[in-house]
Amino acid sequence: MQVAAPQSFRRVLSSMCTEPHPAARDAAERFLASNPGDPTTYPAVSALEDEAVGMLGEMTGLENPHGYIASGGTEANIQAVRSARNLATTDTPNVVAPKSAHFSFQKAADVLGVELRLAEVDANRRANPDSVTGMVDEDTVLVVGIAGTTEYGRVDPIPALADIAHDAGALLHVDAAWGGFVLPFTDYEWNFGHAEVDTMGIDPHKMGQAAVPAGGFLAREKRVLDALAVETPYLESTSQATLTGTRSGAGVASAWAAMDELWPAGYRKQYERSQANAEWIADAFESCGYDVVDPVLPLVAADVPRETVEALQSRGWRVSPTGSGELRIVCMPHVTRSMLESFADDLESI
Ligand code: PLP
Repeated sequence: MQVAAPQSFRRVLSSMCTEPHPAARDAAERFLASNPGDPTTYPAVSALEDEAVGMLGEMTGLENPHGYIASGGTEANIQAVRSARNLATTDTPNVVAPKSAHFSFQKAADVLGVELRLAEVDANRRANPDSVTGMVDEDTVLVVGIAGTTEYGRVDPIPALADIAHDAGALLHVDAAWGGFVLPFTDYEWNFGHAEVDTMGIDPHKMGQAAVPAGGFLAREKRVLDALAVETPYLESTSQATLTGTRSGAGVASAWAAMDELWPAGYRKQYERSQANAEWIADAFESCGYDVVDPVLPLVAADVPRETVEALQSRGWRVSPTGSGELRIVCMPHVTRSMLESFADDLESI
């Protein structure tokens, strides 16, 4: 009998997925058939989910978080837009996000019938508050800030964006899907404790080393989560705020297990290792003569020509370009220094 096998991570350099921590892998396997979407039938996984949300709250400066373990950053972003839209009274809602926002906001706007306005970023690729201010109006229901952008790892000025959102009567959502597990070890102001953030996405299945699918959706206020709830007539529980119905018990249990094992010391160590790797590969690109976007978080983009990227791909490297064509390396936990050394050797020889 043939056994299906996944590809190895040995040459994966542009992905935001990684090898789950062994504890997360074991927990995922134990909870493969549990459904946190039905908490009265599956109370064990439901209790783990409450604890996991509590741990995410601790990481993001929120004492009594309201939220759940989602399928990923896309779902958290859709839910943030949905909650803000449901709480507002306008018939023509709009959301203002920087151009650097993940494409999941386009999906959110599409499925929810909300206009998406994309604001400019500054020379440092962070949301430009003046441009955001120029786009908000009385129909704005949500302003979005990114804490760790997908392409360049930038952190938007979250406190300024929170002020702009609240002055306009809108909510502020922070997308920390990728950055949320490294930012606690930096000086950035990005979380619920630093600013009046209303909702946040933070994904255990990215830098958190949980199994896929494990995202996080957090809200400061209960009413914001309640704005997502629908009645559930055939279940014992009376309402459900999640977007999907049956959900992955494996995702929930693995998120809990990874955080239980790694928060905070293990994540700090990983951040330091990943950041050092990012700085090392940035220097390697520079010494080959390429322009580099400096890694403020463990993510490097370098202006490597398309033919070189293709030559690297043909040697088995899983690398992909940014929208502007730079080669992008995400220093995820599976990306080791020796992997990067071997990549740099190939780059030099090409
Ligand atoms: N937000 C950010 C900042 C991301 O980088 C990503 C994915 O890379 C997402 C959201 C979407 O996350 P997912 O693919 O888990 O839905």
